[in-house]
Amino acid sequence: MGRPAVFVRLSRCVPPFCPWCDTVYARNRGETLDIGEVVDRVLDFKNNFVVITGGEPFLQWDSGLRELEERLIAAGCKIQYETSGKLAIPLNCRGYKVCSPKFLKGAWRFVEGNIHVADIFKFVAADDFRLLEGFIEKYEIPRQKIWIMPLGARRSDQLKLYARVWDYCVRKKFNFAPRLHVLAFDRRKGI
Ligand code: SF4
Repeated sequence: MGRPAVFVRLSRCVPPFCPWCDTVYARNRGETLDIGEVVDRVLDFKNNFVVITGGEPFLQWDSGLRELEERLIAAGCKIQYETSGKLAIPLNCRGYKVCSPKFLKGAWRFVEGNIHVADIFKFVAADDFRLLEGFIEKYEIPRQKIWIMPLGARRSDQLKLYARVWDYCVRKKFNFAPRLHVLAFDRRKGI
């Protein structure tokens, strides 16, 4: 949070979709670019920290993302991925993997093998922490790897939950993950 980054948002996601999804536009819209164009656009920002997100970025691992990763790393970039973990994270993926598992339609939509591949886990929380606690206990995830983010795509929604999620993180010794862009700009995009 707060670190300048170039965001590459890849289109499409894996159903079931999250009712709270704040990037619906990424699931059903986008532009088709060849890999060289993406690399050129990224390098134009002159910032070597690149966050690749979605949608679900690993949907496109074999249709361009693997090559994009290779080319960005060769150009000196550090890569961080944001994934829901609904698909297997490729074992040969060299970026830092932030996995945000989703509980949808009565089940965690998560490929179990990702437990040992993801670098950290980010959970979206509202006011009931039992579900995510069940997940954390089941997989014995070390607390240092856990980040909890208040649910909400609006500043007002975020602020309503902050104190509660903060207290929970302090009590459990988890990391707290505020949504800085929402706090600063509310629903504005393209910042
Ligand atoms: S995994 Fe992410 S992009 Fe996909 S539906 Fe959920 S919030 Fe939206």
